[in-house]
Amino acid sequence: MNQDEVTGCPTTAAAPTVTYNGLTFVPFISRKEINARVKEIAAEISGRFEGRCPLLVCVLNGAFLFAADIFRELTIDAEITFIRLKSYDGMSSTGKVKQIHGLSEDIAGRDVIIVEDIIDTGHTMAGLLDDLRARHPHTLSIATLLFKPDSLQTQISPDYVGFNIPTKFIIGYGLDLDGLARNLPDIWVIGEQAEQSTTPNKTMRNVVIFGAPGSGKGTQSERIINRYGFHHISTGDVLRSHIKRGTELGAIADGYISKGQLIPDELMVKILADVLDNEVAPEAAGVIFDGFPRTVPQAEALERMLSERGRKVDVVVGLETDDDELTQRLLKRGQESGRSDDNIETIRKRLDVYHNQTSPLRDYYDARGSYRRIEGKGHPDSIFEDIAKHIDAIL
Ligand code: AMP
Repeated sequence: MNQDEVTGCPTTAAAPTVTYNGLTFVPFISRKEINARVKEIAAEISGRFEGRCPLLVCVLNGAFLFAADIFRELTIDAEITFIRLKSYDGMSSTGKVKQIHGLSEDIAGRDVIIVEDIIDTGHTMAGLLDDLRARHPHTLSIATLLFKPDSLQTQISPDYVGFNIPTKFIIGYGLDLDGLARNLPDIWVIGEQAEQSTTPNKTMRNVVIFGAPGSGKGTQSERIINRYGFHHISTGDVLRSHIKRGTELGAIADGYISKGQLIPDELMVKILADVLDNEVAPEAAGVIFDGFPRTVPQAEALERMLSERGRKVDVVVGLETDDDELTQRLLKRGQESGRSDDNIETIRKRLDVYHNQTSPLRDYYDARGSYRRIEGKGHPDSIFEDIAKHIDAIL
């Protein structure tokens, strides 16, 4: 396979920069280079699937131009269909998963080629592959216009890659910023200056919901989402979703979670950065961090990550409850949800970890003036009203 490494900024006759939502982009990959690579990929696919009428599955919206261009360059019979991937909240034990919308074709026994615009961490693609594999295609391959090998956190290995690119934000040729820039014929990369100093949404609020396991963070997060429309990041849910999908990261996480231990900071910080960059819509009103940070180094990393995006932790609401109550709640949850770490031995370990590694964060945030103590025992509705007062104060 011939992959082109693109590292420089080819000069074009177009204006040297374009600006969207205050972010400046410089030329990166020209339409001419894209055309040439599309032709090569279409020729490879035509050679491999001659006489087999493959089905291209275009992932909307970003891949629509790439898929159309590949499709019309094919010299064999082929079909094309279009899908959307929509996030939905699974039960809290399964985390967020993406569901396929729009695939009406029976793909059993077919040669299926997923056409994607960009593969970053690979999590979305891993979920899609699992889903499509379960429908028993004859072969399943991936064609992606862009691939960020340095961001990859899964074992995805695309069959056809337009260009390997560094971990940078890009737009054009189907890729958008807030819906704009998809119709630029060339691909543009964010300018160094802009990337560091500007952010699409400086008013996005950041709320940390803090407390021991079983203190009600998940329950209260749901209420916050309903009232304020904030984006919910639960690191526990993210990890459980990896375990469920059998990813490499899931296998690592499982070892720690089942023992009631914390996942190492360095890995956790990488996971969170990925979620912040790829899951949170730039126009979101706010983000609730549930289960992160859990250590002082994580809190420092969060401060750094937010400040790079022109944001900060606006308030930390700490749900405070005694260990007896927490243990009873977690045992009950274990019986109801079957969560594997809600057994007495692991619960004790998790509470120890909380007291030793996580509770120092109370002082950390108190010293910064952002900690608000919430009485965690009582009716969930009245606890929520206490929390809401503090969120209202930062809006
Ligand atoms: P939770 O659902 O938040 O109770 O998290 C369940 C488990 O996931 C924890 O006991 C940890 O093993 C792991 N975990 C979740 N968030 C973090 C984090 N920020 N740092 C380290 N480990 C985490």
